[in-house]
Amino acid sequence: MSKPTFPLPPGSTIGIVGGGQLGRMMALAAGRLGFDTAVLTPEANDCATRVATRSLIAPYDDQDALSVLAQIADVVTFEFENVPAQVIDRLDFLGASTAPNGRSLAVAQDRIDEKSFLNACGAATVGFSPIETADDVVNALEQLGVPALLKTRREGYDGKGQSWVESSADAKAAFARIGGRPAILEAACSFVREVSIIAARGRGGEIACYPLAENHHENGVLRRTSAPARSAAKVGAQAETIAARILSKLDYVGVIGIEMFELVDGRLLVNEIAPRVHNSGHWTLDGCEVDQFEQHVRAIAGWPLGPTKALARVEMENLLGKEVDQWPKFAADPDARVWIYGKGEARPGRKMGHVNRLRPLS
Ligand code: AMP
Repeated sequence: MSKPTFPLPPGSTIGIVGGGQLGRMMALAAGRLGFDTAVLTPEANDCATRVATRSLIAPYDDQDALSVLAQIADVVTFEFENVPAQVIDRLDFLGASTAPNGRSLAVAQDRIDEKSFLNACGAATVGFSPIETADDVVNALEQLGVPALLKTRREGYDGKGQSWVESSADAKAAFARIGGRPAILEAACSFVREVSIIAARGRGGEIACYPLAENHHENGVLRRTSAPARSAAKVGAQAETIAARILSKLDYVGVIGIEMFELVDGRLLVNEIAPRVHNSGHWTLDGCEVDQFEQHVRAIAGWPLGPTKALARVEMENLLGKEVDQWPKFAADPDARVWIYGKGEARPGRKMGHVNRLRPLS
């Protein structure tokens, strides 16, 4: 397919690599603006396939499926961070227009590259050290102190592939706990709260940021987001500066989620970047003029970015596992907006939906 001209008109096709809830909500937003969607996922019944115009069921690196996707989609994006970055490179090679770019995905997939990139952007992080062996853990602990958090370099999410190291005597066991894989050791951050900023960059380099959100994790998984975050005037401006630097340096197009730790002195340290729409941005679905999914579609389609102002304060709660069975209660609550992802089995801890509870701003 020849490279499209932006802005893409309604009727164009948006390709989405990945078939989970983020792809589903992206496809719903795309549909509202008059776009068709084509989802590539290895799972036949993935939840995005049931709202997309068309689905390609194949492994992410299936050459035939990638050729078809490049052929039918006017722009291709992704909703899943562990899509191999080579898939985006391959789509580029096949003549597809991809957004965000493969470099943004590659940087976010490797915790060492990610933190090195962030520091090079002037965004502070916790101290860290690359780990190849259990002996590296012992040496790095001297510099970073105890406890420290050992995380696999790649493919960790929702707290998986992580282990606290309590002392140098614990180094070997901790390294074994994360599977003896290449890793990063991070200094423990004693934060006052965890916050995130959802930001977008358009094809002309313009940037729009949503109000800062405050996040509560349990066992490494996001449990609740409250937004706009309270007392955020100063940290909000700091977060916007950080986001603008990251987006510009990556020559990014689309929505990004940036997770940060707020320190007692008000400084922000970036924990990680997610080169996609983000769980801590689900509050925007009911709290903002234009939500993060529409914003992402607008950005990659070359449309003007939409307004990001909050119209309400929102408490977003993830529905994990069987909690989704309480949908009649949420449906009966006039202050609650319930989003259910249509996933089959409610396995413990699986993100099955979320509820946005609306409160007045102030
Ligand atoms: P991550 O997989 O990096 O998003 O980490 C999941 C959660 O673990 C974070 O949201 C924090 O609650 C916690 N965490 C991660 N890194 C650190 C750190 N260096 N110090 C303290 N807590 C951390």
